[in-house]
Amino acid sequence: MKRYSAFAVAKEALGYHQGWERAWGAPEMKSEYDVIIIGAGGHGLATAYYLAKNHGVTNVAVIEKGWLGGGNTGRNTTIIRSNYLQDASTAIFEKSRSLYEDLSQQLNFNIMFSPRGVLMLAQTEHELRAWKRTAHANRIAGVPSEMVTPEKVKQICPIIETAGPRYPVLGALWQARGGTARHDAVAWGYARAAAEMGVDIIQRCEVTGVDVVNGAVTGLQTSKGPVKAKKVAMVVAGHSGVVADMAGFRLPVESVALQALVSEPIKPLLDIVVMANTVHGYMSQSDKGEMVIGGGADSYNNYTQRGSFHHIEETVRALKETFPVIGRLKMLRQWGGIVDMTGDRSPIISKAPVEGMFINCGWGTGGFKAIPGSGWATAGLIANGTDPMADPFTLGRFTEGRMIDESVAAAVAH
Ligand SMILES: Cc1cc2nc3c(=O)[nH]c(=O)nc-3n(C[C@H](O)[C@H](O)[C@H](O)COP(=O)(O)OP(=O)(O)OC[C@H]3O[C@@H](n4cnc5c(N)ncnc54)[C@H](O)[C@@H]3O)c2cc1C
Repeated sequence: MKRYSAFAVAKEALGYHQGWERAWGAPEMKSEYDVIIIGAGGHGLATAYYLAKNHGVTNVAVIEKGWLGGGNTGRNTTIIRSNYLQDASTAIFEKSRSLYEDLSQQLNFNIMFSPRGVLMLAQTEHELRAWKRTAHANRIAGVPSEMVTPEKVKQICPIIETAGPRYPVLGALWQARGGTARHDAVAWGYARAAAEMGVDIIQRCEVTGVDVVNGAVTGLQTSKGPVKAKKVAMVVAGHSGVVADMAGFRLPVESVALQALVSEPIKPLLDIVVMANTVHGYMSQSDKGEMVIGGGADSYNNYTQRGSFHHIEETVRALKETFPVIGRLKMLRQWGGIVDMTGDRSPIISKAPVEGMFINCGWGTGGFKAIPGSGWATAGLIANGTDPMADPFTLGRFTEGRMIDESVAAAVAH
């Protein structure tokens, strides 16, 4: 595959850009693979990439019912940070954040990683205590994050109203190397690099059944016919329960719609990511100038990938309180994605009850930031049967009572 570079762009310009190759092909599905990954979101594609790159496993198919990156990966608000509370979480989220730092170079695809800083406001005494505890835990875990005062908050982000009447800002947890990346580009970059190493990406192909013989997976039924494999990873986010049901087991996850919206584009106003969890909203500014605004999850289980009016009202009210300056902004569009939530708000990266099957799910409202680390760990688990980053996140933790409680770090905060 031709490498992307300034030189290549200049050379192609001379030929009216007619010489570019397709970034990934549209291969016919083979009858059998060593590994099949269900779901071409960021986590599925990153798993395929690291299977090939780290473990030399290239006879791999990624099967996607829609188009690659069309699920939550293409619907999220792209916040990247690693300041979680528990050791198992910081290990995988910080690995992920550090992989993001030079992912554009690794994939030879500009994922537009922008480490602009993430500010998580503390607006109640309780929240202040929780963030202080997290900052201490982060320091011990070697994760760069710190508490800052209200004065420093105002200095970092002058448009925040720190002396609001309801919830004045009492401090904040600040991660200077947190930030954002272009979500589609992360999926496209992993897809291109995986395809180049021999991975087949089969789009518009829905998995409709899982073949299990004597407790072991033997293959899948799909809308393009049957396909065999002795190892199958389900990486389908909000549809994990549906695919698990096909294989005959249940998962401790709930599927709910999580919503977001963007404003009309305006001139540069906000050069960091700000999260205000007490009033329930967060905001950053895209390169196009739109304010990217995250709202909450629906309070009932559903599979509707769309937004609803009451979320707009609640979220915009919260942000107007935090940033009075945006009061006259018009909102452009709104959408939703189906996220999969576990009880302890931590993911599941695990062998399934069916032999040969692997599960990567439960990233809930905050899995975009985890894509590189999750792909790395899941590939290790599939190739070796164990992986130091994945092992704490087994399905067994729910029966062993070994929860990895991230409800403070992950509930509203993405
Ligand atoms: C509005 C919103 C805002 C968010 N904001 C953030 C944020 O700021 N930061 C952050 O870190 N995270 C955020 N998230 C969470 C993040 O988007 C997800 O955790 C992450 O994208 C999950 O990636 P994935 O690859 O597991 O799933 P997906 O990208 O959803 O991919 C799963 C794929 O599986 C496919 N699939 C499902 N069933 C089948 C089947 N039967 N056969 C074949 N294919 C199938 C789907 O079509 C889909 O493409 C947000 C999510 C939403 C919805």
